[in-house]
Amino acid sequence: MVQALAVPRAKAPFEQTTIERRALRPNDVLIDIQYCGICHSDIHSAYDEWGGGIFPMVPGHEIAGVVAAVGSNVTKFAVGDRVGVGCFVDSCGECEYCLRGEEQFCTKGVVATYNSLDYDGQPTYGGYSQKIVVKEDFVVRIPDALSLDVAAPLLCAGITTYSPLKKWGAGPGKKVAIVGMGGLGHLAVQFAHAMGAEVTVLSQSLKKKEEALALGADHYYATSDPNTFKTLANQFDLMVNTVSANLDVDAYLSLLRIDGTLVNVGAPANPDTYNVFSLIMHRRSIAGSLVGGLRETQEMLDFAAEHGIVPKIEVIRADQVDEAYERVLRSDVRYRFVIDMSTLS
Ligand code: NAP
Ligand code: ZN
Repeated sequence: MVQALAVPRAKAPFEQTTIERRALRPNDVLIDIQYCGICHSDIHSAYDEWGGGIFPMVPGHEIAGVVAAVGSNVTKFAVGDRVGVGCFVDSCGECEYCLRGEEQFCTKGVVATYNSLDYDGQPTYGGYSQKIVVKEDFVVRIPDALSLDVAAPLLCAGITTYSPLKKWGAGPGKKVAIVGMGGLGHLAVQFAHAMGAEVTVLSQSLKKKEEALALGADHYYATSDPNTFKTLANQFDLMVNTVSANLDVDAYLSLLRIDGTLVNVGAPANPDTYNVFSLIMHRRSIAGSLVGGLRETQEMLDFAAEHGIVPKIEVIRADQVDEAYERVLRSDVRYRFVIDMSTLS
């Protein structure tokens, strides 16, 4: 039995409770969780905005900790190793996507770290807890250069932004816009800059301008100013939308050049709409992207360590999670809340 923070039903406040973690199987690793980031997806899920929520729910898929025990067949990790767990904890391992290292698209259905059923039909519980048991293939190594508190947000926010930037070719000569500068957005800025792209932040206000420029943005505009959409018309090769709410999609599409792509990673509960002429007239594309596979997550962590990419975090106690959710919903986060799990006892 381990201590955990759970919501008993949608939108209820967090309660401290105990949950059971399975006994170690031969390929399992037991992790003492030290830090867990708060992703906006945790809020969408705990509020059941996407539907299908499994309650009680223990959210958390930005997990950083230390290996406390290993199963008899574990070869990749030893007790004391610094490790991370992201958005999923199992997949079939055999389908075309698993073999390609894109477990998130497993045809059997990937097992999410929380709010999911594992292949035995048991609900999964996430990182707002003291310990977790995970198959070694779903555990990544945290490079020495990254401390565990700042490593945590990379496990979801990091890979979710690194993966589409790489796939859609952010690099020298490319103009990339990052829409929304929250947890995902402030990492997208750093990754796109490190990849060599010319980076523009599109945020609701000018409040985060200095910080965005310090993180590597070349330009910064407020979307509340209608002139922004005139000034930046037809400019960008790639736009990564990290916003958790619905946007005027046509207005953002108008900022893409010919063949430009708007990649959505933000996941608002309600559908977005757009006018198809916004695509046709400039041969533009709309796409989406879902986190990233295990191999790419390890690559992203190593890239972050090599390029000095560090999430900006505010460490909170376990009894401050409700308040942190309120603040994320008000866009009052600079730029990721991370729960210190030693405060859960
Ligand atoms: P976050 O920290 O709350 O950041 C979202 C940012 O969007 C805010 O900081 C704000 O930035 C902007 N924003 C919020 N409300 C807005 C509104 N009404 N209009 C315009 N801009 C608004 O959230 P996050 O943790 O980065 O997550 C962002 C989204 O990505 C969530 O929907 C989450 O579920 C989703 N997500 C998807 C994946 C995936 O695999 N696709 C993975 C993780 C998360 P400014 O203040 O700069 O405007
Ligand atoms: Zn997440």
